Amino acid sequence: MKICFGSNNQHKLKEISAIFKQHFADKLELVYPPDLLDYKLDPEETGVTLNENALIKAQEFFDATRLVTFADDTGLEIAALGGKPGVFSARFAGEDCSDAENRKKVLRLMKEVPSGERYARFRTVICFYDGKDMEYIEGRCEGKIITRELGENGFGYDSLFVPEGEDKTFAQMTDKEKNKISHRSIAVQNFIKFLKEKYDK
Ligand code: IMP
Repeated sequence: MKICFGSNNQHKLKEISAIFKQHFADKLELVYPPDLLDYKLDPEETGVTLNENALIKAQEFFDATRLVTFADDTGLEIAALGGKPGVFSARFAGEDCSDAENRKKVLRLMKEVPSGERYARFRTVICFYDGKDMEYIEGRCEGKIITRELGENGFGYDSLFVPEGEDKTFAQMTDKEKNKISHRSIAVQNFIKFLKEKYDK
C-alpha cells in the first residue's frame, strides 16, 4: 500500500522514510509529492492551530495524489508568551524572516522573564487523512528557553531550547541525541503505532 507524506521537506522525508522502512519494510510505501506531481504543490498554511495547518496540508496533498496522506505541523509554545510563537513559529518575526530573527525576537520578549518561569514545549501534530476520516497524532518535548543562544547544530529555535532533564540545548546535541527525545520523533513513533493498529494487525 502507498501512503503519501504531504510535505516538500526532503530532510523530514529522509528521517521519516528510514523509520518507515524499519517498521513496515515493503508493506507501506512512502510516497513523496515532488516525485509524483509535475508541479510544486505548496499549501498555504492559513490555520490558526497546528491541527488546522496539518489538516490543510493532508487534504491538499490527498486531493492532488488521491493517496492516503499524512502531514505534520510543529510549533514552539512558550508559557510566558501565552503559548506564542505556536503556529506562527516559522514566521514569528515577520513573513520571510530568518530563524535567527525569530530567535532574537524570543530573547527580546523574554528578557525580563525569571529563570523559574521560562517553561516551553515543542509540539508536533501529524494529521492522517484517507479522503473520509482524519486523525490527529501528537508528540511533545517539554523544556525551557535559556537566556542566550548555545550550540551550532539543528535549526529554528534549537539553540534556545533545553529539554527537561537535559543540560544542553537541542543545538548542542548530535542528531541522534535529539532524535531520541524530540517532539517530531515522538509524534512519528505514535503515528507508527497508529498505522500498525490500522493496517498491520
Ligand atoms: P514545521 O511545521 O516543522 O515546518 O515547523 C515550523 C517552525 O517551527 C520551523 O520553521 C521552526 O522555526 C520551528 N521548529 C520546528 N521544529 C523544530 C525543531 O525541532 N527545532 C527548532 N525549531 C523547530
